Amino acid sequence: MTLELVRGDITAQHVDAIVNAANSSLLGGGGVDGAIHRRGGPAVLADCRRLRASHYGKGLATGRAVATTAGLLDARWVIHTVGPVWAQSEDRSELLASCYRESLRVARELGAKSVAFPAISTGIFGWPMDDGARIAVRTVREAVDAPVAEVRFVLFGDDAYTAFERALAVAP
Ligand code: ADP
Repeated sequence: MTLELVRGDITAQHVDAIVNAANSSLLGGGGVDGAIHRRGGPAVLADCRRLRASHYGKGLATGRAVATTAGLLDARWVIHTVGPVWAQSEDRSELLASCYRESLRVARELGAKSVAFPAISTGIFGWPMDDGARIAVRTVREAVDAPVAEVRFVLFGDDAYTAFERALAVAP
């Protein structure tokens, strides 16, 4: 399995599955979510609305993941996952780890070989970048399995990139 870091925009990636840092409504938002819906086009939203009308009437729970078409993105699927909002008063690390684990489980079920992740929860949801990077790298190393052979963290900005570099440098 190769684990790589890329600086850039996750919506510009060519992979089998792009993971979206979605919100529980599945109906779009800011950050990665907004960019994915803008670039993926109306087919992504239409699929999300179908999910809301069927098995996900109340939306997607924090830590869970579900796939839709990738629409106009250069990928086959978008895997939507809902990260936890960071809280000083409560340790929600297990929910953040669950996002990576569940997304990889969905990717495996789909037969995806390559998966791109953003730094889930580290934007609007306020998770400290170093800790978010540590949880991301550790969980992906533990959870990745065939047929997923390539995981790419796509990072916006130098802070995110260097945090993930530090996390990768820690021995597995
Ligand atoms: P969350 O609500 O889970 O915090 P955000 O989308 O606000 O999700 O941010 C998650 C991380 O993704 C942040 O580090 C943010 O800087 C980064 N980010 C925002 N837009 C993009 C993009 N187009 N490609 C890659 N990373 C992005």
